[in-house]
Amino acid sequence: MAQPTQQAQVTRVRALSPTVRELVLSPLERKISFRPGQWVSLQLPVGEHPPLVRAYSMAEPEAASGHLVLAFDHVPKGLGSGYLVTLKEGDRVVLSGPYGNFVVPEPLTKDLVFIARYTGIVPIRCIIKHLFGAPQSREMTLIYGGPARAELIYHDEFTALSAVQTNFHYVPTILNGQEAAGESRPEGELVASLFADRRDVFPMICGVKTFVRPLRTYFTERGLERREIRVETYD
Ligand SMILES: Cc1cc2nc3c(=O)[nH]c(=O)nc-3n(C[C@H](O)[C@H](O)[C@H](O)COP(=O)(O)OP(=O)(O)OC[C@H]3O[C@@H](n4cnc5c(N)ncnc54)[C@H](O)[C@@H]3O)c2cc1C
Repeated sequence: MAQPTQQAQVTRVRALSPTVRELVLSPLERKISFRPGQWVSLQLPVGEHPPLVRAYSMAEPEAASGHLVLAFDHVPKGLGSGYLVTLKEGDRVVLSGPYGNFVVPEPLTKDLVFIARYTGIVPIRCIIKHLFGAPQSREMTLIYGGPARAELIYHDEFTALSAVQTNFHYVPTILNGQEAAGESRPEGELVASLFADRRDVFPMICGVKTFVRPLRTYFTERGLERREIRVETYD
């Protein structure tokens, strides 16, 4: 369902990695209440036929102040992200939301397997941060791949969480084949090695289609129904 549009003010900008930037927006007309995993639609004043509409997931759960935390990668020659990187504190954008069904099922009756590549981590980070704001009885595994260690945003946070939460299992993997230490297998291989025999899990997968779709197929070929898998595709 369409949500009303409103202006939002940029209240903070910071780099999370060489290519990923965080943007904090404060909606100026009404608070946007959302479930972790949802996204907002930005109407950007660029392109041949503005506005250019682009979706961005919330990176942090809802805040009492109503501010929204987004994180995006600067796509080379990307029109939308190329505009977003020019924004600075005090600038305004037009947005609407929330939208989307990439949310944790309720009640949660299975262990969760999160699989993300690159900025596909954004809604998953929001979900994990929300879930571990309270005690969790289910096992949760995060398989998270990035082009380089420096591009694994929130890596330190997930490492710290896995050190204190015995039911949070963090499996980062660096895909450039050049960094000596740590895991470098693609996420699909890691899924196969960890979950080949398990149908009693609920996978949540986020990234571009070429990444997400083979992983969903992997799980459906092992007997999961499509409704037992949740995906978010960025393109
Ligand atoms: C529901 C939803 C939620 C999204 N949430 C986020 C988010 O939290 N963070 C985020 O960075 N992006 C997110 N996106 C993608 C975002 O809407 C834009 O598509 C992205 O910023 C690229 O837009 P652009 O105009 O700069 O590039 P375009 O000119 O549209 O070029 C897109 C091309 O860049 C490549 N590419 C590289 N990185 C991305 C990327 N992140 N998303 C899409 N394509 C990419 C793809 O191969 C694609 O062909 C989301 C998309 C959807 C549909």
